[in-house]
Amino acid sequence: MLNRNIETFLGCDKEYDASRIVVFGAPFDSTTSYRPGTRFASRTMRAESYGIETYSPYLDLDLEDTAVFDGGDLELCFGAPEKALAAIEEFTAEVLNDGKLPLMIGGEHLVTLGAVRAVAEKYQDLHILHFDAHADLREDYLGAKLSHATVLHRVWDLVGDGRIFQFGIRSGERAEFQWGKDHVATHKFDFSGLDEVIKQLHDKPVYFTLDLDVLDPSVFPGTGTPEAGGVSFLELLGACRKLDKLNIVGCDINELSPPYDQSGASTAVALKIMREILLTLEKKHIK
Ligand code: MN
Ligand code: MN
Repeated sequence: MLNRNIETFLGCDKEYDASRIVVFGAPFDSTTSYRPGTRFASRTMRAESYGIETYSPYLDLDLEDTAVFDGGDLELCFGAPEKALAAIEEFTAEVLNDGKLPLMIGGEHLVTLGAVRAVAEKYQDLHILHFDAHADLREDYLGAKLSHATVLHRVWDLVGDGRIFQFGIRSGERAEFQWGKDHVATHKFDFSGLDEVIKQLHDKPVYFTLDLDVLDPSVFPGTGTPEAGGVSFLELLGACRKLDKLNIVGCDINELSPPYDQSGASTAVALKIMREILLTLEKKHIK
């Protein structure tokens, strides 16, 4: 018997009904402030999936033993962020209503807002774990309320004070950092303090948003706003492996921009981190 020619994310080839996690692409980059291209992330990651093993020597686990469905890419309205966010929210809500965990591949970081709207609707006590080079806390960006530079401020509008925990932050305007002091927990430069935050959040529903530019540009140059002084791949891997201590109810990986790294190395980094996150989330279900 022959199989259908269907390209999926690495190891995400189970049927919907049998899956616990739904991975999907949100190829949207209309508000990107500097260099667009993240709209190509999900399709490039699928194409490059052939180059990455499903087995993790770090965890001694294999994606073949997980229950992950690839929901494809959403068709999002470019130039109309509200419409794009509404489509992301609707899709995420459907995944949540079916009792599954959404893992969205951006896209620019603004896409997180659409997913968080749906997740916050389901979980009133939602907390946010945010890895990024940038604070993303601006009230507006050049007058626009919806931007990848304001996304965590818009998430704060939904969840309120004391719910957002940021790590790796090393860029932002002075006003953002000052505002952040009163409203969110910003851990600068690396993952110092992560263990304490995980202890604090262990019984809370947590949405995890990973802006891959938290990595140093020497490891991950394929992004729109590279920022020197980032964490190493192994530091990020170590931090992501702690997600099994949390009740993760939704997550995303965003800001890969394949056109800025023609070597393909950044896409391979994104895939490897996605693999490790999926395996960490599925760990307790794998025998
Ligand atoms: Mn960001
Ligand atoms: Mn960033």
